[in-house]
Amino acid sequence: MGHNYIPATRKEYTWDSENPYYEGRKYPEPTVCPECGAVFKDGRWQWKEHIREKLPENVNKALCPACKRKRDRYPGGVVTLKGKFLKTHREEIMNRIKNAVEDVSALRPLQRILWINEKEDGTIELATTSEHLARHIGEAVNNAFKGKLEIKYNENEKFARVLWERN
Ligand SMILES: [Zn+2]
Repeated sequence: MGHNYIPATRKEYTWDSENPYYEGRKYPEPTVCPECGAVFKDGRWQWKEHIREKLPENVNKALCPACKRKRDRYPGGVVTLKGKFLKTHREEIMNRIKNAVEDVSALRPLQRILWINEKEDGTIELATTSEHLARHIGEAVNNAFKGKLEIKYNENEKFARVLWERN
């Protein structure tokens, strides 16, 4: 596939109020995301497994900020993994990433990997919901496997490009 999924003209939002992915936005309670099933309750998005009471049948529905980012292909960070070492240790590296992300996502449902793109040359790109998660993944991989880690933020620090490489 190898298509370029980050639009060249990426719109940046200066104010939270105009940012459709703003995580602090309020919804009627409870609200369910029809895509991932997360529930907005007590002022925040939670996994439905953590909600005790039964939700009403006519419950309000709205895409959560994470699913909106996925739909619009608007990640908060991109992690690129490359190098010879990746080809021979792919599974270990991807498991390390999975564990690192699950630790965060369990408590913060809006922190997720949005999609994974594997290129023909073996390079792997992961799109994340936030710059924090992209950095967290890069650091987890680098701590476990060493190599070269580079993190670049855009001007307002709302987007991070993380590159990890080991040959
Ligand atoms: Zn969702």
